[in-house]
Order: sequence, then C-alpha cells, then structure tokens
Amino acid sequence: MPPLGEVPARMHASVIRPERYGPPSQGFAMEVVDVPAVGRGQVLVYVMAAGINYNNVWASLGYPYDVVAGRRKKGEPEDFHIGGSEGSGIVWAVGDGVTSVRVGDEVTLSGCTWDETAEDIRLGADPMTSVTQKAWGYETNYGTFAQYALVKDFQCHPKPKNLSWEEAACFLLTGATAYRQLCGWPPHTVEPGDPVLIWGGAGGLGSMAIQITRIRGGIPVAVVSDDERGKHCLELGAEGFINRNDFDHWGRLPDTSDGAAMAKWMKGARAFGNRFWEILGERRAPRIVLEHSGQNTIPTSMYLCDTAGMVVICGGTSGYNGDLDLRFLWMRQKRLQGSHFANIRQCRQVIELAASGKLDPCLSWTGDFADTGRAHQLMYENRHPSGNMAVRVNAAAA
Ligand code: NDP
Repeated sequence: MPPLGEVPARMHASVIRPERYGPPSQGFAMEVVDVPAVGRGQVLVYVMAAGINYNNVWASLGYPYDVVAGRRKKGEPEDFHIGGSEGSGIVWAVGDGVTSVRVGDEVTLSGCTWDETAEDIRLGADPMTSVTQKAWGYETNYGTFAQYALVKDFQCHPKPKNLSWEEAACFLLTGATAYRQLCGWPPHTVEPGDPVLIWGGAGGLGSMAIQITRIRGGIPVAVVSDDERGKHCLELGAEGFINRNDFDHWGRLPDTSDGAAMAKWMKGARAFGNRFWEILGERRAPRIVLEHSGQNTIPTSMYLCDTAGMVVICGGTSGYNGDLDLRFLWMRQKRLQGSHFANIRQCRQVIELAASGKLDPCLSWTGDFADTGRAHQLMYENRHPSGNMAVRVNAAAA
C-alpha cells in the first residue's frame, strides 16, 4: 500500500472501450490510465474490493445504452469507461467542502449520485427521483474497477467492522435495491405474514430480498432455474422454491384474441400459481412480487400478484418489452411499481442490517482484479454462483 494520502499520477484499471463493446470477456481489459482530479464535494477512494453487478454487463455490451457516447455527448472528454457501482476502500483524498469523511476512513460505497443543489431535491424530492440522479460507475466514470475511485462525499458510508473488504464491497447495490423494492413503496411494504414472490432468488438481488423479507416477518418464496440454487434460497430463509424450468409459458403474452394460445398460457400460469400455493400451504397469492427478470416473467408476475398487491420491478434481464393483460391490473386493482437503487437512508438501513449480522452479504465468489471481465462474463451467461461476487482490487488475497 502506498503512503496514506499520497496520490499517484497513473493507476491500473479494468477498462471498457467502445472499440471492444461486446460480451464482457471481450469488453473489459486491464489498462493504465490517469488518476482523476478530485473536485469540490468529491472523495478519492483507494479501492480495496469491488462488487460485480449486471449493469456493467450492459456497459460492456454497449447496449441498451452506449455509456461512453452518452457521456461524451454531455462534454466529458474520456473515451473509455471505468465501471463498478459499489466497493469498499480507504478515503485517500478529499475535495474542498468535504467534512463528512477524512483521509484514512474505511468506507463502503453506494452506487448512485445526484446534484444536492438541484431544485427538485431542494423542494424535498427523494434524490433517487431527481432529474440529476445517475447510476455511478455505469452512467458516470471512475467506478471501483480501478485502483482509485471518484465519488461524491454522500456515497461514503462507514464500512461494517464485522465484514472483510470483499464482503463489504459486494452487497450494497443489490441489498439496498431489494430493500427499497420491499420497504420503500407504502402501503406495499413487507409486513408480518405477507407472502412475497422473488424471481432469481439465488441471484444477488434475490439473496438479499429473501433475507430482508424474513427479517420483516414476511414469507419469501423464491424462483430459480435449478435445485442447487433452490437449496441456497432455503438456507437463506425461503419458505420454498419454484424451479422455472418445470414450466414453459415464458415470454411475451399471446394476443388475447387468440383463444387457444391464451388458454395454453393460462394453463402454465395457473400451474405456476398452484406451485406457489403448495409451498405456502394455503391459497394465498403474493402481496408483493419482486421483479427484475422482465419480459419473460412479467406477465406471470402480474397475473399471480394478489388483488390490490404490487409488482415492483427494477430491471429487465430477459428483455424490456413487458406485456400485461390490463384486465388483471384494473379489475384486481394491482400496482406495477418501478424502483431504482436506493436513497441514502435506505442504504444506511441495509448497511446497519449487515453490520449487526442480521443480513448475510452472501459473498459467494471472489476473484482477482484481472478477473473483472471474467466475473461479468459468468453473470452474462447466468453461470455464476449463487449470491454476490467481488474482485480484490488493492486488497491482498487472504
Ligand atoms: P444476478 O445475475 O445475480 O441474478 C439474477 C437472477 O435472475 C439469476 O440468478 C437467474 O436466476 C434469474 N434469471 C435470469 N434470467 C432469467 C429469466 N429469463 N427468467 C427468470 N429469471 C431469470 O443479477 P442481480 O440479481 O444482481 O440483478 C438482476 C437484474 O436486476 C439485472 O438485470 C440488473 O441489471 C437489475 N438490477 C437493477 C438495479 C437497479 O437499481 N435498478 C440494481 C441491481 C440489479 P435463475 O436462473 O436461477 O432463475
């Protein structure tokens, strides 16, 4: 480790460039780049470990959004992208006006940024709904896939002392996103006894959502694609799991005027619902459905969700065109709610759960810095282990 606070001119980084856009194994490469200057209200963090998330699979693909072109259009000079929307590290330098952290503080970093002087925030908006809000390390440069990351001061949170660097790096993005989905949209917050359906229960979001649901007294039921992943969900507290490969009604909804196709789809959706009842041991529908799988699953989510319940969605892994039969929405008075990461209060609540030992960060895989592309490739192919993943950046292997 260099002397505390001594900032070098150049650093190693795992970089995405437009000329390499494609699957992560091709998109990411190790390079040496300039360390960014630290502006007012900003903090330079010596990155110990970085969490791996799906957003930088999208960044590497250059689809559905070209992150480099987007930033260059706004006048930023860099022709490359350093992703990484969460991590842990040591405060190495602070810009003018920063009083909340000091050089040497050990921190966990949260993954959204905004302009605290924006009019909507000054008028009382949740910063996550501000027009200035951006996913840091995806829509912005200088994330945690480099030796030094550049954040705003409010992205720095005390690192839980009970967690290793890698554990502290891997859970906040998925944990806080799941927390906002499950606790941030009253009156549809998880209450004791509420059944909750969780897609991708063994994934990053799912592993956090199962635990948060249990902590709040709800009954989590997970969906997975193999029984090994189902076992992981049971260990985290799921009441049971549904293997989605036992069903074949996935994808876009048939046209409602095609009676035969619709009947076939309904048969699949009902069988899926029966499996949910079997697990609960009673005929109750999920009050909340935690969605992120998107196009392939949203028709089933909207169908199965309880009357006056909520489907809350934060992603579209299988595609962005969400079909729904509007009759289920209005006649059963359901809510379809978009949700995106989390505000600072929600981040702190999740960090507190991890710091108190109630929430397991579920670190399942740790790689070296040079493995950053490989980790994203595993995620892209849905071949990654259950839970959350991290790479050691400056931290030494244990
Ligand atoms: P993971 O890859 O860890 O988990 C996703 C899980 O989804 C997989 O384990 C897989 O489980 C399941 N899955 C994949 N394809 C399908 C499909 N076609 N149908 C049903 N399930 C599927 O990713 P994360 O949990 O980290 O993220 C999930 C999504 O949420 C991503 O699209 C990500 O971009 C988004 N996200 C959004 C955030 C936000 O703030 N808006 C924050 C965090 C994530 P299995 O195969 O076992 O069913």
